[in-house]
Amino acid sequence: MARIFCVANQKGGVGKTTTTVNLAAGLAKVGQRVLMVDLDPQGNATMGSGVDKRQLELSVYDVLLESATIAEALVKSEKCGYDVLGANRELAGAEVELVDVERREKRLKQALVLVADDYDFVLIDCPPSLSMLTLNGLCSAHGVIVPMQCEYFALEGLTDLVNTIKQVHANLNKDLAIIGLLRVMFDPRITLQQQVSEQLKSHFGDKVFNTVIPRNVRLAEAPSYGLPGVVFDPAAKGSQAFVEFAQEMVERLGKL
Ligand code: ATP
Ligand code: MG
Repeated sequence: MARIFCVANQKGGVGKTTTTVNLAAGLAKVGQRVLMVDLDPQGNATMGSGVDKRQLELSVYDVLLESATIAEALVKSEKCGYDVLGANRELAGAEVELVDVERREKRLKQALVLVADDYDFVLIDCPPSLSMLTLNGLCSAHGVIVPMQCEYFALEGLTDLVNTIKQVHANLNKDLAIIGLLRVMFDPRITLQQQVSEQLKSHFGDKVFNTVIPRNVRLAEAPSYGLPGVVFDPAAKGSQAFVEFAQEMVERLGKL
């Protein structure tokens, strides 16, 4: 049975998509069967996995509207080594179209049940909001991975997310837990980042992943080639860190 994780943080541009596609590629690299679900109408995780969002015949939108199954809508990304349930602008309409539907926040969860045995991991890239789309992700998942930059307001921004996760846990999904906080775009030369990193550790303890993802330009360049950094330049420091993170995830799961 697949373990299902959301990569979420309502703050924009913190590294959610970079984390999702590189963790997916890293897990594939260490032999795991992975499905990557793009829940963001921006479709960045789709494009960043070598799948053209403009040419999707079916997408996660069709799955949420129950006009397709995941098996019908997924695309195999041969280059990346994992399957992609893609998204594009169409997905922005789902929020409105599902407004009168009962249990609309459980649509993705229901759809995932059918493919749960085909994968070891399902990773869901969430949009930068706490919207119905993110709620569908949180209702489907066993846990949340929170990428964050070690900046001054980082802890403050976490409060809203932690509260939302608590509410979803209490009302909609008893399985949901924060699996961990991932420090990304880290630059050890910046004293403030080191300080915030220490604060995070004292506040959240072992909920902070051991692996730290450095700021690395190869990770930023990779999407323009339609690849995760891990595939685009496996030797880059950032890529190696993501493979290390994949291994840490596999190890943590053994203990969950
Ligand atoms: P959004 O909220 O818009 O969905 P996001 O949280 O998914 O954004 P990303 O798109 O992953 O964030 O990253 C934001 C930008 O930072 C991108 O240009 C990405 O290439 C760059 N970036 C992410 N991680 C790193 C890193 N470790 N080193 C250098 N650049 C990075
Ligand atoms: Mg994103």
